[in-house]
Amino acid sequence: MSYKVTLISGDGIGPEVIDATLRCIEALGVDIEWERVIAGEAALKSCGKLLPEETLETIRRNKVALKGPITTPVGKGFRSVNVAIRQLLELYVCMRPVKSFGLPTAFHEDVDIIIMRENTEDLYAGIEFPENAPETNKLIEDMNAISEKKIRKGSAISIKPISKFASERIARFAFEYAIKNGRKKVSCVHKANIMKYTDGLFLHTFYDVAKAYKGKIEVSDVIVDNLSMQLTKRPKFFDVLVLPNLYGDIISDLGAGLIGGLGLAAGANIGDTIAVFEPTHGSAPKYTGKNKVNPIATILSASLMLKYLGEKDKAKILEGAIEDVIKDNSSVTYDLKPTRDDPTAVGTKETTSAIIKRIKELQK
Ligand code: NAD
Repeated sequence: MSYKVTLISGDGIGPEVIDATLRCIEALGVDIEWERVIAGEAALKSCGKLLPEETLETIRRNKVALKGPITTPVGKGFRSVNVAIRQLLELYVCMRPVKSFGLPTAFHEDVDIIIMRENTEDLYAGIEFPENAPETNKLIEDMNAISEKKIRKGSAISIKPISKFASERIARFAFEYAIKNGRKKVSCVHKANIMKYTDGLFLHTFYDVAKAYKGKIEVSDVIVDNLSMQLTKRPKFFDVLVLPNLYGDIISDLGAGLIGGLGLAAGANIGDTIAVFEPTHGSAPKYTGKNKVNPIATILSASLMLKYLGEKDKAKILEGAIEDVIKDNSSVTYDLKPTRDDPTAVGTKETTSAIIKRIKELQK
């Protein structure tokens, strides 16, 4: 079977971790025709747009994309290209597995959690009003006229929309995933004790959807601050987590920390017909071109892509090879060593070569 997949290398360390991933896929012998397109800094330089329409169009056409991280300068007025891709393509699920791969120095062993982060709403919707702008002052005036609680004059404002529609489809996706993948429990993460209407709607909708899975899947809910503490103490207690966008973002990084860091944290943005696979980590600009960072998060994201394409056996070999290299610990990057300045750490290319060597051994 051959596939056509859109490829965006991204910024900073993106091109290096994407190259590493392509080498692994080639070693596996999966026949993929990559359609290379640009977004982020490269696109801004070549056509003056961070996210050219053509890039979106190829993803719509191919239905599947692999993407490196893209830089978003803080507070510079334009929104994240990564968030724009998710929103414009209606990729409403951000799925992030938090799985132990036998790293000797990881905080926990046998963690196996799936994070399902709602990807289109919440404080990530990008509806923001700067301090002291006329529209912000008008909004504050209007809000103060109808709300018992008052907003301080001169405040900046971010809006947190949560809809029944989006809450329902993420909850349903999580339950369906749990059923198809032999998962036992789905837990809703929220702060409905404080945000009664937004998080309250997310929580109630979750329980409405859960009714259809009664007797098949165990259901629970947990307040996000409590979850943060419990995850660090007993992550084995959790299975599938469903979260609104912002908590999902934060808990994804916490989850990455449990298993050994961002260098191991894979991700997939999934909609009804399109999926874009990318690591959880960003473009780590300070390491650009240094052959330093861990390519495994991106390689594992490609493994999620292989499963999505139906190449489950290839994905199993790839993950097996990664697990063996991590457990062996002699050919891993600095972030998977006991200390950051460990002289035995190898570079991006060398880790990739070790994974490829193991892929070939497992394929014999
Ligand atoms: P980051 O994830 O890029 O890096 C934070 C730190 O994590 C790095 O300094 C490094 O120490 C470590 N790290 C990250 N990836 C690693 C890897 N593969 N191997 C080893 N160590 C790794 O986060 P940041 O510095 O907050 O963000 C940098 C840029 O990336 C920002 O512009 C941000 O907006 C963007 N970003 C993009 C995405 C995306 O494309 N989906 C996601 C997150 C951040």
